[in-house]
Amino acid sequence: MINNQIESHARELSLKSILENYEKVADKATKSKLTYQEYLVLLLEMEVKRKLENSTNTKLIKSKFPFTKTIDEFDFTFQPNLPEKEIIRLSSLSFIEEKSNAIFLGPPGVGKTHLSVGLGVKACLARYRVLFVTLKKLLEELYIAQIEGTLAEKLLFYSRLHLLIIDELGYMPITKLHANLLFQLVSARYEKGAIILTSNYVFDDWGQVFEDTVVAGAIVDGLIHHSSVFYINGSSYRLKDKIKRG
Ligand code: ADP
Ligand code: MG
Repeated sequence: MINNQIESHARELSLKSILENYEKVADKATKSKLTYQEYLVLLLEMEVKRKLENSTNTKLIKSKFPFTKTIDEFDFTFQPNLPEKEIIRLSSLSFIEEKSNAIFLGPPGVGKTHLSVGLGVKACLARYRVLFVTLKKLLEELYIAQIEGTLAEKLLFYSRLHLLIIDELGYMPITKLHANLLFQLVSARYEKGAIILTSNYVFDDWGQVFEDTVVAGAIVDGLIHHSSVFYINGSSYRLKDKIKRG
């Protein structure tokens, strides 16, 4: 009878953890002679933990990382020229508060995406709004929004994120039209939110990626004004074992 009441209230309030655990914890409370308050604290703690875990998982899913890797999993000894201290400083996430950017440049396989995801996951756990997107997908989305007349809303959506990770600049040529959209996005986020960008081209070679070098220059200016730039020029981690095996 009393159990029915507890269960129906817990259901009504979506207290899943309490619903699942109240009986078990009540037994424990009786055995350990817990006070009513102590019993209630135990149950509430379980509920809070579940809610936090759920919201973190939702955040991770919403952020659309291609995989989940952490900065701890990054082997800095494999990239001796990458300043580990600076990456650790970034992972304190003050760059998000400062609304500044981080740019990882280097050939394929050196860990650009890994580092971006690692920082992104950290930001998610710190409850920031984060989104990971490849430049290709981002430009497609902006282009469609422009055609549909919803570009302003789309730009607003992107400018509200605390951290936007744009992966893989350089894997396809950027037309003048696309470059303009990217410029609008970078401008919309300027000093409003942080960007992490990765590219397999160093800035000097961005002229090869962009059809319009003037817009390319404006985008670079907007990005690097407040930013940490990392040139990772070591070997590909993907080939690590192959190299070892000779
Ligand atoms: P990039 O984006 O530069 O092409 P990735 O970040 O995708 O490279 O790295 C390729 C793979 O190698 C990923 O699985 C990544 O986790 C791993 N990797 C790259 N560099 C390191 C490193 N220094 N320590 C640990 N794993 C690494
Ligand atoms: Mg990558």
